[in-house]
Amino acid sequence: MADPAATRLRGAIVPVTPFQQNCAILWDEATKVAMVVDPGGDLDRILDAIEQTGVTVERIVLTHGHLDHAGGAAGLQEALQAKTGGKVPIEGPDIRDKFLLDGIAAQAATYGFEARDVTPDRWLTEGETLTLGPHTFEILHCPGHTPGHLVFINHAAKFALVGDVLFQGSVGRTDFPYGDTAALIGSIKTKLLPLDDDYAFLCGHGPGSTIGAERAGNPFLR
Ligand SMILES: [Zn+2]
Repeated sequence: MADPAATRLRGAIVPVTPFQQNCAILWDEATKVAMVVDPGGDLDRILDAIEQTGVTVERIVLTHGHLDHAGGAAGLQEALQAKTGGKVPIEGPDIRDKFLLDGIAAQAATYGFEARDVTPDRWLTEGETLTLGPHTFEILHCPGHTPGHLVFINHAAKFALVGDVLFQGSVGRTDFPYGDTAALIGSIKTKLLPLDDDYAFLCGHGPGSTIGAERAGNPFLR
């Protein structure tokens, strides 16, 4: 088995949709196998980035069901299949976000742009893992922003993808009918803050941060 430390996890961010959502392309440096996380839209830009990095996308991963994260997933899956002939599975989020994925097209229309509903090929559950070449991501369920929001953590690289759960100096919105502030803060405090200070995270909007910086200075976590 390959030593994860021997081949690095690499990443690129592509801001997508009018919401400037951070779509992430993560890949294994040695084998160039990749996953695309939260392709909300702007497929041309995502496909350009895939082309430029020269990676082979083996899965599309969703942190949660919001349109700016998941609205381009179905189109990206079709575009990749047209290019390579193989089906790239869409995995995640937790099934508790199904109602959001089923309402993406209708939601997007109210914002005046196009996005498609998506049905994942595999729902993900806390306790399972995602693999990318020799790299492994722990899956955590962090509800509150949405009921089925997942976070993906690579312990070897001390790196987390937290979607819209935690931001630099802020936390995810909960002003939706299904939002739950207590659940969100509970998710962060019980599942993310126990990580070491030097875990870095990428979030759905704006710059990333570290667990240590947010534990020390995030006013929503006092
Ligand atoms: Zn969201």
